[in-house]
Amino acid sequence: MGDAPEGKKRYCTVILLAGGSGKRMGTDKPKQYLEIGGKPLLWYPLSILEKSKVADDCILVVPQGDISYVRECIVEAGSFSRVRAIVAGGQERYESVWKGLQAAENGSERQDVSPEIVMIHDGARPFLTEELLERCFLEAVTYGACTAAVPSKDTVTISDGEGFERETPDRKYVWNVQTPQAFRQEILLPAFRKMAKELEQGDGRERLAWVTDDVSVVRYYGGVKIRLVQGDYRNIKVTTAEDLEVMKGLL
Ligand code: C5P
Repeated sequence: MGDAPEGKKRYCTVILLAGGSGKRMGTDKPKQYLEIGGKPLLWYPLSILEKSKVADDCILVVPQGDISYVRECIVEAGSFSRVRAIVAGGQERYESVWKGLQAAENGSERQDVSPEIVMIHDGARPFLTEELLERCFLEAVTYGACTAAVPSKDTVTISDGEGFERETPDRKYVWNVQTPQAFRQEILLPAFRKMAKELEQGDGRERLAWVTDDVSVVRYYGGVKIRLVQGDYRNIKVTTAEDLEVMKGLL
């Protein structure tokens, strides 16, 4: 599957993002550690990665103060052997991705590897499946850059910013973007390097306010077309207390 020319599988690292504060959940504990069905939310995507045929290892990105907690109470407790490194995230999601990417390139305490394919997945999407990982991996090999996405079931409208509708795109072209987002590293890394240069400017975070995901960075800084991969309507992002109820229902 996705064999490299010499017949070896392409090395694939997954950056699993759990560096957010989860403020929108309104709980004391960050959402990634909330227990659902007796397991912390982060346990679910980690357990898929552990058995995956395409993901060789994982860089786990968590808030600065949580590294020891996550190592002991989630990674060691769950015997997740594919976690190559646990690193501190940044203020914005794209900064957490950049830190994860640098860790993916620099090898780790365990081994010196340089991945050919890098996938980025939100830790807050517990319903990751092996099939979705495989689809994204294969499309990244073929097209260089892709994202999981599903056709929008709702009509989507663009507001004028003042409480009125401005424009309603034709629904057949509207997709809801998910993760994993998967890339050939030779495309992803230079795009993020350019973004990081912009971030170094005094008003870097203001300039990058439009960045909400990784394909936007690759499209803008890399000029690469992004392939849409059929995602999964169950692959929800757990953001608010209502999403937790949906998750319990799905489990
Ligand atoms: O905030 P949002 O819902 O876009 O977060 C998506 C994912 O990115 C979550 O899994 C969250 O933990 C992660 N994140 C991060 N670092 C941040 C912000 C969000 O790793 N600074």
